[in-house]
Amino acid sequence: MRILVTGGAGFLGSHLCDRLLKDGQEVVCIDNLFTGRKSNIEHLLANPRFEFVRHDVIDPFKFEVDQIYNLACPASPPHYQYNPIKTIKTSVMGSINCLGLAKRLRARVFQASTSEVYGDPQVHPQPESYWGNVNPIGKRSCYDEGKRCAETLFFDYHRENKVDIRVVRIFNTYGPRMHEADGRVVSNFIVQALRGEDITIYGDGSQTRSFCFVDDLIEGFVRFMGQTEIIGPMNLGNPGEFTMLQLAELTLKLVGGKSKIVHKPLPSDDPKQRRPDITLARKVLNGWEPAIPLEEGLKRTIGYFRGRV
Ligand code: NAD
Ligand code: UDP
Repeated sequence: MRILVTGGAGFLGSHLCDRLLKDGQEVVCIDNLFTGRKSNIEHLLANPRFEFVRHDVIDPFKFEVDQIYNLACPASPPHYQYNPIKTIKTSVMGSINCLGLAKRLRARVFQASTSEVYGDPQVHPQPESYWGNVNPIGKRSCYDEGKRCAETLFFDYHRENKVDIRVVRIFNTYGPRMHEADGRVVSNFIVQALRGEDITIYGDGSQTRSFCFVDDLIEGFVRFMGQTEIIGPMNLGNPGEFTMLQLAELTLKLVGGKSKIVHKPLPSDDPKQRRPDITLARKVLNGWEPAIPLEEGLKRTIGYFRGRV
């Protein structure tokens, strides 16, 4: 198959391109390089089955492909808040452009949605049936509501135009190729520990997240795209749940060094707890289950950053 990956030069996108090429597919990767980097896909540029096009998904695009994975969107709070209007445009207009193309081509189209659609959840762990608790006018809203609107568009194109959609809600995923200045917690803590800088915990560190290693997530993507039983939304993530204090302590233990933990103000609307209910994924994705525990995934990610920071 020929497969279009938007946001393919980013953290998750570049791992997805790797995987699709390894499976024998042809890949067209489009990216405006806002948070992505050419270095993430440099090793693919000589592959005749891989093509990179620098393009912004806000502007229409046409490629003859069999499948589309829509990953274009900054994912880290400092980056998506840098230009919030652009972030909403990316989610909304990027989705409309992908869906219009999928409609014309009768191509299956995948949306990288997010656990942020649950906002600061009052149901724990979060099943797909939970409608969420999202502030529509806060600093995170450009991302959360953009992604929620994208889900709406995917389901309306499905109902109105029979577009063959797959919608995944991704929970915090980490691994090699995160940008050292990404700003998300795992890369921040590792980079700070490796540089001997203070580890910055926002708030008291009691808030929780569930961290999935990238390889486990990409396996889930490909299995979900390959099945015809359900269109989603489907949670994908690792249900292991940790406080940010536990994450900081584990990172310090694994990196060693002399960094100390300091506390910074908690950003507004920061969700207090998050853990995926992955019952649906386990059932539909042929026994899919995250295989890499946090400590192992952190070791691999630390190994990646060690030579770079
Ligand atoms: P990332 O920032 O590394 O990747 C996003 C990519 O999209 C980058 O390469 C960026 O340059 C590109 N991009 C941004 N705006 C664009 C535009 N207007 N046109 C074209 N390209 C554009 O982040 P990531 O972690 O790889 O996230 C990939 C996708 O997965 C995003 O849609 C994100 O919302 C979603 N997601 C990720 C996580 C996670 O934990 N990693 C969790 C939930 C959802
Ligand atoms: N966080 C932190 N220190 C950092 C970066 C983030 O304590 O240097 C916290 C942040 O406040 C949040 C959690 O870690 O509670 C996860 O943040 P991230 O930005 O990685 O993802 P998200 O909040 O979008 O889940």
